[in-house]
Amino acid sequence: MTRKSLGFIPLIWECAFCSTQNPGPIKSCTGCGAPQPDDVEFLQVDQERFDFIKDEALIRMAKAGPNIHCPFCGTRNLATDELCKKCGGEISMGGKARQAGGRVRTQAEAQQRTPPPVEEPKKKKSPLIPIAILLVIIACMVGFFLIFFRTDDVSASVTGVQWERTIAVEAYTSITDSDWRDEIPEGASVRTCSMKYRYTSEEPQPNATEVCGEPYVEDTGTGVGEVVQDCEYEVYDDYCEYTTMDWVVVESITSSGEDYSPDWPVLNLTSDQREGDRQEQYRISFSGNGETYTYTTSSEQLFQSANIGSKWNLSINQLGGVQSIEPSN
Ligand SMILES: [Zn+2]
Ligand SMILES: [Zn+2]
Repeated sequence: MTRKSLGFIPLIWECAFCSTQNPGPIKSCTGCGAPQPDDVEFLQVDQERFDFIKDEALIRMAKAGPNIHCPFCGTRNLATDELCKKCGGEISMGGKARQAGGRVRTQAEAQQRTPPPVEEPKKKKSPLIPIAILLVIIACMVGFFLIFFRTDDVSASVTGVQWERTIAVEAYTSITDSDWRDEIPEGASVRTCSMKYRYTSEEPQPNATEVCGEPYVEDTGTGVGEVVQDCEYEVYDDYCEYTTMDWVVVESITSSGEDYSPDWPVLNLTSDQREGDRQEQYRISFSGNGETYTYTTSSEQLFQSANIGSKWNLSINQLGGVQSIEPSN
């Protein structure tokens, strides 16, 4: 978030003795003369509108930083003062700066005795929601576990086998794709582009739309409030369609059989083609307990050891699928 200043507005403080409302920068009550207490709270008069200060000197004072209380007599001095206006003491000798940066309450809020709003109250979430989500996830995991991992053992013998081997054929061809302009592969020719939302930045960026929250008032520690807004920046960027040459799968050639001699298919490639990924899959059929089962594996070694009629122990899950097999002795 970027903090954006909209300007400065006058604040007031209320005298604890006579309830007079005094302008923020005034250091003694205009009603009874009582000094402004160290921990006085500055308040915003009107919540609905901001009466921005135009007096340059007052704005400079607010920008200079929080007032500093004299370490000797407690008098409130400007941040730029070196010697106390009242006793002449050196302020740098342990002078205490006023609290600043807090959010200023309105008079109405102060009367209701509401605590100052917590920063970013929007982001407050009920803790119950994450807990509920967690419980659902746990329930799903338990169900998944029961279905797939709780198994029964069945003794069965091999009744048949089947193999299937596939090779992808790739061709070097022109493809059309789209991406951010700075992600387009080298050598590609860009066709059309349009601006599209890409990401949100905390800091101002070129080609960005500024999105700001409601303005609020911060205590500058000088009796003057600063109206600020938290803003973020939605960055737009060129998203383009382009064409380029690339290897693309155009065909898959498969050979299969029901014996123990699996083979790779023979490819007849043209000059602009090449061999792509290879895949092999073996299926072993069993019968046992009056049922038939099929186990699928990519291990040729396991397939070759599953001779017709040989005895195996199968782990069967709750959906009737074969989870694993091992030879029985
Ligand atoms: Zn007073
Ligand atoms: Zn002093």
